[in-house]
Amino acid sequence: MTAPNNISMEELVSLCKRRGFIFPASEIYGGLNGFWDYGPLGTELKNNIRDAWWHDMVRCPPMGPDGEPVSIVGLDSSIIQNPRVWEASGHVGGFNDPMVDCRETKSRYRADHLLCLGVKGDDQAQIYAFVENDDESLASARKRLEKYIKRKLDDEELDVCPFTSLSTDRIAATVGPGVKTAGTLTEPRQFNLMFKTFVGALQDEESAAYLRPETAQGIFLNFNNVVDTMRVKVPFGIAQVGKAFRNEVTPRNFIFRSREFEQMEIEWFCHEDDAARWFDFWCDTRRQWWESMGLTSDKVQMRRHDADELAHYAKEGCGTFDVEYRFPFTSPDYGELEGVAHRGNFDLTRHQEFSKKKLEYFDQQRNERYAPHVIEPSAGLSRGTLAILCEAFTPDEERASKVFMKFQPRVAPIKAAVFPLVNKDGMPEVAAKLHQDLRRRWPVQFDAKQSIGKRYARMDEAGCPWCFTVDSDSLNDQSVTIRDRDTLSQDRIGIDKVEGWLAERLT
Ligand code: ATP
Repeated sequence: MTAPNNISMEELVSLCKRRGFIFPASEIYGGLNGFWDYGPLGTELKNNIRDAWWHDMVRCPPMGPDGEPVSIVGLDSSIIQNPRVWEASGHVGGFNDPMVDCRETKSRYRADHLLCLGVKGDDQAQIYAFVENDDESLASARKRLEKYIKRKLDDEELDVCPFTSLSTDRIAATVGPGVKTAGTLTEPRQFNLMFKTFVGALQDEESAAYLRPETAQGIFLNFNNVVDTMRVKVPFGIAQVGKAFRNEVTPRNFIFRSREFEQMEIEWFCHEDDAARWFDFWCDTRRQWWESMGLTSDKVQMRRHDADELAHYAKEGCGTFDVEYRFPFTSPDYGELEGVAHRGNFDLTRHQEFSKKKLEYFDQQRNERYAPHVIEPSAGLSRGTLAILCEAFTPDEERASKVFMKFQPRVAPIKAAVFPLVNKDGMPEVAAKLHQDLRRRWPVQFDAKQSIGKRYARMDEAGCPWCFTVDSDSLNDQSVTIRDRDTLSQDRIGIDKVEGWLAERLT
């Protein structure tokens, strides 16, 4: 079953700005490409997703395939670590993306994100590069190609090939995005994605350090600390949520590919013989988790990495599966939400080699000492937030707001709103009292401004599941109206029952 994802990213980005979910960073200075700030609602939403992950993976994970409760402990390691860490992990030598520069526009592209449009069967003609999944860029390439060959082309006459497959001669015959003449694109060159900084007063190579490009390494560095202090037994996991930084060549698609983002990672340590079973377990568990967060299953898929895509640590063993979501800008294709990788014991072995400290585990049951194998479910919190925003965005022409955000109550930034119908006759006082009572337990808003219709519309855009309205009857019968965001149904409930009613739905 396939469901296209046709929502307009432009409208979603505009709603996120208007309602205080996400703003461009440093906006008053013109912004900074690849950086975003989360507003009041976005912060609540992202924290709710993070907390749900922490609850479901660390505090209360599912039972394992061995019938035993899964054991995972948390960690919060430094963003800046000793630079040797990144040599051992392979990031200094290997964390590169091939990039292509345009000499004319000074734009920089990831080579594997560029495609070229040409005329089928004509390998002498100019070809036109465009950015993958970017309809505007594709339309512009087609227009310039048609102008060059001086006629309209049918879809069947078009040929698309990856930029990375081009010979030097063909690169010279390629016209870059937004450019009129061929030959302005460079050959792909390696570009290290790590942000460099300096620690201390002196700015020289001795004091150079990196902002972490993934949270995972902090976990490996603390393997001995956790084993020694927590009495954990293999198999067990260590989980961490935090910021990661990558100097992406082409940040794009809103918060999908940014230069500062958050990850939620688990390193699951197990014996090599059990790795395949745990790999399957984590692939299933992680897919199900995203679905439990409201992503519909026909927009979620698992994709096995091809051999040539595998990271340096995942060449052997079970490989890597991505949990993918059909984002509006990738539809009908999918974009990565999370990678589940079998890293072997690459990381522990490398850190052992570079630090000269033993990173092994003594397995009493097997009477064996070894560096455990690792299954890593590595999820993007920022990308997950975007997927949940896309999934929630529900156009509805019948409503005043024309759109509402259908968040699951668990992740909704505002759980309920309380309104006085009008600002007189004792209604504001009753509503304020109800609001005071409820806000002790949940993020609940009080709103007395403008018409009731406008207040419902604001809450629809914020994705608030329920609104409680105090009206003139409330003063006599001590009840309020509950308005349901999704069905628009309105029921009455006693004021003293509201807290219990919400607790039943939110706990
Ligand atoms: P991609 O192929 O999209 O660059 P990746 O395979 O390099 O991603 P991983 O290194 O596996 O990504 O990182 C784990 C997760 O971190 C990804 O699944 C994604 O959700 C998130 N992530 C990675 N890079 C970014 C980014 N630039 N912006 C936002 N999230 C990111």
